[in-house]
Amino acid sequence: MLNIVLFGPPGSGKGTQAQNIIEKYKLVHLSTGDMLRAEIAGQTELGLEAKKLMDKGELVPDSVVIGMIENKLAGNKEAKGFVFDGFPRTVAQASALDDLLEKYGNPIKVVLSLVVSEEELTRRILERGKTSGRADDQNESIVRNRVVEYRTKTEPLASFYAAQSKLVNIAGEGSIEEIFAALSAEINKHS
Ligand code: AMP
Repeated sequence: MLNIVLFGPPGSGKGTQAQNIIEKYKLVHLSTGDMLRAEIAGQTELGLEAKKLMDKGELVPDSVVIGMIENKLAGNKEAKGFVFDGFPRTVAQASALDDLLEKYGNPIKVVLSLVVSEEELTRRILERGKTSGRADDQNESIVRNRVVEYRTKTEPLASFYAAQSKLVNIAGEGSIEEIFAALSAEINKHS
């Protein structure tokens, strides 16, 4: 089983590259951001609560996203592996994921961290906002808050995974094809 975490700040290209990876390696894509947006579109109670935080660029509670991931793992027992995109985002989520994977499958093989400069991130997110329809991509102060959440709560995960010898940095600037080639070269070492 090939379980991969795609790690990086908002706008680093995780969603785009996750799509390339699942197609090439036939894995299941688990994006908590996409799951939350589906809850919002379905106007569920969970979605309405999550929207209040997402609209401010804040993280939703760990228990909410951990619960969603657990459901997906339980519902995809035949999967060849998973690409986690936008999850985990806190150390508590990462520990919960390790526990869940022990129960449902195999541990994470590799954490691929997309490294992109701050100016490039803001530029990409605001550009994406023109077409994504995502309110949290269109407002500069929300974008800034998402980056602050990332730096304070998510970036410490890099050392969590480095301590497990799973963290690999990948240059996240360049063409989509070049970045995908670098990601694939790393994944091939584990598949
Ligand atoms: P994303 O599509 O991954 O950029 O996520 C959009 C928003 O959904 C984030 O700014 C958070 O408000 C929320 N979100 C997505 N994934 C998580 C997560 N793993 N933990 C907490 N909040 C999340």
